[in-house]
Amino acid sequence: MSLANLEELFLHEIKDIFDAEKQIVKALPKMIKAVETPELQNALEEHLAVTEKQVERLEEVFALLEKPARGKKCAGMEGLLKEGSSLLEEDAEAPVLDAGVIGAAQKVEHYEICAYGTLIAFAQELGYEEIAELLEQSLEEEKEADEALSEISAQVNKAACACEEEEEEPAAAKRK
Ligand code: FE
Ligand code: FE
Ligand code: ZN
Repeated sequence: MSLANLEELFLHEIKDIFDAEKQIVKALPKMIKAVETPELQNALEEHLAVTEKQVERLEEVFALLEKPARGKKCAGMEGLLKEGSSLLEEDAEAPVLDAGVIGAAQKVEHYEICAYGTLIAFAQELGYEEIAELLEQSLEEEKEADEALSEISAQVNKAACACEEEEEEPAAAKRK
């Protein structure tokens, strides 16, 4: 693919985040089912609804650009989600697994925060004001999701830490 200018690079990156968001919509239900902390489950469920809206927002961006809404495989998101789903296969105590899922979800949020930040800078440079505003809304939502996860992690990490302590005394019996 030849990228002659910032406009072409912008479209290239819009296709990337469009695919990334759609991958997230597919991956979240499995994570929601796997976690046990109610606050975490709620936060992930809420972010699933938000992500569905973000996909629609990107469809609006394609329409404003007068381009077909077509993604281009985001290998970065594929890798992050693969790591997250392989974590679910581990044999882990519930709070430990939940702590891991929070970390995996925050890696996803940070990828998105970077992607939207870059896209907004490109859109501003290209004079796409309306598009920049749409992308700004999604960026804010990703930041909110990241912050919500950080808050929940305080309680989950503590619980995950306590599982280990409990195991210390009857270690021989429990470790089998
Ligand atoms: Fe998103
Ligand atoms: Fe990507
Ligand atoms: Zn997100």
